[in-house]
Amino acid sequence: MSVGKTTFRNFPMVPRVVFGRGSFDQLGDILMSKRKNAEAPFIFLVDDYFENPDFLARIPVLFNDEVIFVSAEEEPKTQQVDALVNRIKNKFEELPSGIVGIGGGTLLDLAKAVSILMTNPGKAENYQGWDLVNRPALYHVGIPTISGTGAEVSRTTVLLGPQKKLGINSDYTTYDQVILDPELTKSVPKEQWFYTGMDCFIHCVESLKGTYINAFSKSYGEKAYDLCKEVFLGDLSEVESQDKLMMASWHGGMSIAYSQVGIAHAMSYGLSYLLGIKHGLGNCLVFQHLEHFYPEGVKLFHQMMEKHEVKLPTQVCADLTQNDFDILTDITFGMEALWENALGKDWRSKIEASQVQKLFQKI
Ligand code: NAD
Ligand code: ZN
Repeated sequence: MSVGKTTFRNFPMVPRVVFGRGSFDQLGDILMSKRKNAEAPFIFLVDDYFENPDFLARIPVLFNDEVIFVSAEEEPKTQQVDALVNRIKNKFEELPSGIVGIGGGTLLDLAKAVSILMTNPGKAENYQGWDLVNRPALYHVGIPTISGTGAEVSRTTVLLGPQKKLGINSDYTTYDQVILDPELTKSVPKEQWFYTGMDCFIHCVESLKGTYINAFSKSYGEKAYDLCKEVFLGDLSEVESQDKLMMASWHGGMSIAYSQVGIAHAMSYGLSYLLGIKHGLGNCLVFQHLEHFYPEGVKLFHQMMEKHEVKLPTQVCADLTQNDFDILTDITFGMEALWENALGKDWRSKIEASQVQKLFQKI
């Protein structure tokens, strides 16, 4: 790279995508052309919410394919990825034909990480960071069953490791194929629908209001922002709402791919690391208090909460010690790009640890 010359990011997109209610049932045909041979199975990693005979009958299992149900109770961990990879490698002599992830952000991230670790040596924690993956991942397919995270389009897989919560950000992380079937989301409980949907809304606010914003990200972010307003403040039918939120998630993910998230995400990472609070809820807990930074977005967020009668937990940080707050602020300030996006290059002169601690104390 020559000095003074800007290098523009060259990032991957999902090359193939199907959209439509009931499109899940095309999975068998899609996988058929990717089967290497009868000995090279497909491994389906499925959210255990779907562990029932009806859904199992819809998974297009052939030959020695394997379905592994995984709980999404906790966010994915690097050790969990390593254990799954070892289990698959020990069982099959041949490398599988591919990995299919079916579920919310948790399962989508897990499946991406497993597909990377199937072809790259060592432990998952070694790849947490930016562009540390050297070899292409195994062919992987993502099928979201909740809308909001954008994990179906992003080039990251967020993992909780022994040292940190950080994504495996690489050109090989992105899915090779995605199936967007909004019908799969119809069973999502209301609170979960809200928290994960707000993840999308917050992606848009943080991307659009950030200093990294550009016409590319704006075009996707504005679309997703408007779709979220329709879904959460409009008067849509259930079908329309499911369809539109799935597309909002996609566009929100595309928006942050070429920009960055901001303060709610930086602080929510801390809550997740220290207290195990899940991403969507953590973002909501923080975002409700960020009116100083995102006035319009936070106002709409409160209207959405009111309309859907969502009550967020309170006193979440009430029993924390000063040491806990120090850990929270350290992790939060560690997310430098997010702060730079939110407040500009001189962000350190614009925010102090005591201000961040005060925000945490409100939660
Ligand atoms: P989730 O995957 O954690 O699932 C939340 C709950 O909903 C679980 O109990 C799950 O069993 C249940 N569920 C899933 N689908 C369902 C359905 N159709 N019907 C009923 N219940 C259903 O939720 P999420 O909010 O989608 O994902 C959060 C995760 O996504 C976090 O781990 C976060 O780090 C990650 N994330 C990743 C990215 C990325 O770009 N890779 C972006 C944002 C968030
Ligand atoms: Zn998010």
